[in-house]
Amino acid sequence: MDPVKHQAKQLLREVYARVLFHTGLHALVNWWMPKRLTILLGHCLDAPEINGGLPDDMKISAQKLGAILDWLDGRYEMPTVSGALAALEAGSNGQSLVALTMDDGYRDNATHLLPFLRERSVLATIYLESRPLDERRANWSHLFFWIVKREGIEQLTRRYLQSAEDPAALEGLRRCLEEGENRLEYRVKRVLKYDAESNDRDHVLARLFDESGGDMEALTAELYMSWDDVRELRDAGWELGGHTINHPVLARLSSEEAAREVEVGARSLERELGSSATSFAYPFGRPWDYSDESVEAVRGTQFQNAVTTSSGTNTPQSDPFRLKRIAIGEETELHLVAAEVCGGFELLRRFGLDLSPA
Ligand SMILES: [Zn+2]
Repeated sequence: MDPVKHQAKQLLREVYARVLFHTGLHALVNWWMPKRLTILLGHCLDAPEINGGLPDDMKISAQKLGAILDWLDGRYEMPTVSGALAALEAGSNGQSLVALTMDDGYRDNATHLLPFLRERSVLATIYLESRPLDERRANWSHLFFWIVKREGIEQLTRRYLQSAEDPAALEGLRRCLEEGENRLEYRVKRVLKYDAESNDRDHVLARLFDESGGDMEALTAELYMSWDDVRELRDAGWELGGHTINHPVLARLSSEEAAREVEVGARSLERELGSSATSFAYPFGRPWDYSDESVEAVRGTQFQNAVTTSSGTNTPQSDPFRLKRIAIGEETELHLVAAEVCGGFELLRRFGLDLSPA
C-alpha cells in the first residue's frame, strides 16, 4: 500500500475508534453485532527481575493490562480460548467473549500473571513450547537476545559470519552489514528466522552463547516456567495449549517435520498435565509463518482449534484453525481494543472497509 493511503487508513482507524469509545457508541455496536470472540495476545507481564532481557514488545505492564481488563470487566465474558469457542458455538445468547492468551510459557506467567489475574477472576490461555520445559533449553532467539544485550548486534553479526557455514545466512548477514546500522537487529533476526538453515543457526548461536560465558540451564530457568509452574496454572483453571517443541517457522519445514513439532509438543503436554490440550498457537503466527500443510498437521492431532497472529475478531463462521488475535503491549491504546471487541471494525468490514492494521 502506498504511504499516503496507509496514513489515511491509520488516521481513519484512530478517529473511528475514538468516536466509538468516547461517545459510548461501542455499546450500541456491541449490541447490534452478532456474538463474537476477540482473543488478546501477549507474552509476558513486565517483571524486570525475570524478563528484563526480553524485547520490550514482548511485555505489558500490570498497570496497562489492568486498565484493559478493567474496561472489559462486566461488558464481556473472559473464559479460556476453548471455553470461549464452546460458548460461541452454543448460540447467540449471552455476552460476547474476550480471551487473554500469552505465548511461549515465560516464568512471569506463574510468578506475576497468575496472582494478578486471580485477583480479578480472569482466566488465561498459555501456549507452551515443550523443549524449554522438557530439556531446559531455550530456543535460538533467546540466545540471540542474550548475546545482543551484552555485545551489541554488530559484534554478534561479525562473530556469526566467522562461525557459520550456511551460504544463505552468510550472504544475508553480509548484506545486512553493508546496509548499515539502521534497524540492523531487526534485519539480522529476519535473516536468521527466514533464510538461515535452522540446524546450522541453532549450532552457531549455541556455540557463540557458550563462548560468551552463557549458561543454558540458568537462562532457561530464568526465562521459562517449569512443569510444576504449569500445573499450578492448570489447577487455577487456565487452559494450556500447544506451541510446538522448538518454536520453528512451520511453513519452512517439510510436512513430516511440521507434524512432528506439533505432535511431540502435544504429547509432552498430555504426559505432564494428564489430559490432552485442545488449543494450539502457530509459532510467530503470521500468514507466511504457517502453511495449509501446517494447518492440516494441527487438525490431524487432538487439537480442536488454533490461533494465529493475524489481527481481528472471530465469529461462529470463522475457521477454528485460523483464529485471529489482537496483540496487546505497552503501546496499546484502549480505544483501539474497545473498537475491535465491540465489533466496530467487523461492522466496517461488512461494508467493504477493512481498517485492520497492516
Ligand atoms: Zn511464540
